[in-house]
Amino acid sequence: MDIDVHDVEQRVGTGPLPPGTTVDELLQLAYEHAGRHREGAVADYIPILAAADPEAFGLCVVDVDGVVHEHGDTRIRFSIQSISKAFVYALVVEQLGHQRVLDVVGVNNTGLAFNSVVAIELNDGHPMNPMVNAGAIATTALMPGRSSADQWSAVRNGLSRFAGRDLEIDDEVYRSESGTNHRNRAIAQLLESYGRIERDPADVVDVYTRQCALAVDARDLAVMGATLADGGVNPITGDQVVSAETCRDTLAVLASNGLYESSGEWLFEIGLPGKSGVAGGLVTVAPGKAGVGAYAPRLDAAGNSVRGQIATAYLSRALGLNIFASAARQSTRISATTAERSGS
Ligand code: GLN
Repeated sequence: MDIDVHDVEQRVGTGPLPPGTTVDELLQLAYEHAGRHREGAVADYIPILAAADPEAFGLCVVDVDGVVHEHGDTRIRFSIQSISKAFVYALVVEQLGHQRVLDVVGVNNTGLAFNSVVAIELNDGHPMNPMVNAGAIATTALMPGRSSADQWSAVRNGLSRFAGRDLEIDDEVYRSESGTNHRNRAIAQLLESYGRIERDPADVVDVYTRQCALAVDARDLAVMGATLADGGVNPITGDQVVSAETCRDTLAVLASNGLYESSGEWLFEIGLPGKSGVAGGLVTVAPGKAGVGAYAPRLDAAGNSVRGQIATAYLSRALGLNIFASAARQSTRISATTAERSGS
């Protein structure tokens, strides 16, 4: 169904973060609080990921003015993994437009694991949303470019602009995943059988595997998130990476699908769009305010960083980031009532 409101002006209502020193203090408290948690397990289905230090933990907030607040291991590099899906989606929407990507990939949650094949079969071969592997592979396939080498260079260049620095591939991760990604190759072939991808499935999976192997740190994630929080302008470099409309679309997709089958619980507890990756990264976006980047490799059963989620939940509450939270406009209401009583 076409929700025919495209001509209605998009208004924006947001406010700033608390002062910088408050953010620093709360960031440290969030870090200490989440750091006490040791549950969860480091991913090992991509063999090299099992080598990560389970205690590593970095937390970073970058606001829309480009001010960086960070604590812990914010400069440890890890592979971006599924978090790349959010930014590749943004790049593809920017090039092909809201409607085309909606038609091909969709935006609805599967309720199933990120690498589910059943979800594809249950939905007539539709990839469902760009944050699960099927939808991400279909999205990467849409990336403009004459060859897969062109597509890869557009992906790497685009993600680098989000991060504000040249991102490099982690070769060990790329090789480890390339040697074991039979399931993703099967997903791509299944999508091809349904006519959902038009390029060679093996080439598409290779670009997808490369994008997942890009090395980032928690600070990079916060900058990338801050770019989505700032109408598509990287607040450190000033580069307009994508449009404000593309950011809005991307954040809506993250809110409903960013943490896979636990996206509902995430939105309920944190109230912000976010995206996790199996190497332990987590990016969260407070529109108009800031990006939050976290790295802690122990994951819950759905594949989301445990400490990352707890620290972000803490910050969401403490910094007032939850997009569903509002306070009654007491002063306006009281003065209106007083005015009524006095008959004025
Ligand atoms: N590269 C990983 C995969 O395709 C990404 C998954 C993730 O981070 N959840 O399995």
